Amino acid sequence: MKTYIPIGYKMENGKLIIDEVKSQTVIKIFNEYVAGKSILALSKELTENQVPNANDKTNWASIAVGRILENVKYLGDELHPKLIEQEIFEQAAAIRVRRNKQLNRGIFRTDYQKKNVFANKIYCGTCGEVYRMYVEHSGKSYEKRRWKCKKYIYKNRVLCRNLFYTKEELMELSINAINMVITKPKLLDQKPVRYKSRKSEELLGVERQIETLKENEMFSSTELKELIFKRAVLTYKESKVDDYEVHTKVIQEVLTGVAPLTEFDEEIFCQIIERITIYEDGNVQIRFINGVTITEQYKPGKEDENGSC
Ligand SMILES: [Zn+2]
Repeated sequence: MKTYIPIGYKMENGKLIIDEVKSQTVIKIFNEYVAGKSILALSKELTENQVPNANDKTNWASIAVGRILENVKYLGDELHPKLIEQEIFEQAAAIRVRRNKQLNRGIFRTDYQKKNVFANKIYCGTCGEVYRMYVEHSGKSYEKRRWKCKKYIYKNRVLCRNLFYTKEELMELSINAINMVITKPKLLDQKPVRYKSRKSEELLGVERQIETLKENEMFSSTELKELIFKRAVLTYKESKVDDYEVHTKVIQEVLTGVAPLTEFDEEIFCQIIERITIYEDGNVQIRFINGVTITEQYKPGKEDENGSC
């Protein structure tokens, strides 16, 4: 049986050792991916520069670059010397999760359109609840759909009196915020000072499991691979502060060459806005994925302000 040797290693006297030349390609792929380059851009570049791949050919399929980025062997195990730092590997995994999500949104376009882009993105600044869409007079010609705090009605009583917004109003205030960033890119440079988030129980649990597997030297188990991936996802979710640079780059990439918007763009919205918080005084805070926030005054229209009918 022929053993598969990942690019970056070579066999010498029956042992896998680091291939000095090709390992540099692997390291470069990881570093540039983490720095913001896409898999497609990397594969094009490697092909153009005629860099030899695992089979000493110079055509790089993006799937090959993708496989390198997810190969846990580079973290080192009983057969493979360590080539990539854990931190870089996990950062790359986290970026992939994020980009795949964005990609799936593009592919399953119809599904995605059915789902409302504002779901789970709008929050109440009064009680902290999420906003959801309420449909009044459903199916009638005077049907109304407005976004209200989830606690607006609680146990048949009006509980939270924060403002209501129509979808069009949410679109407009989002456009305003995105345009502010497009016209004043410097706004993105204000790195937010955020508390260091505490690790969740789930993340601590995953870390303990990884340690146990490592102590038992089960380096090549699928379980370990899955756990490392899971840890990357959780770490990403829980400590977005550390990803400030990466996310700022993503925003800049998304907005490259984009003129100020004249209409709502779902893709851009989903890719760069993390959440919107509504305050009762009409202030709306828009938080971008890198943690930078922009506050604008946007009071919802007066028409039909009275929801009690
Ligand atoms: Zn509320």
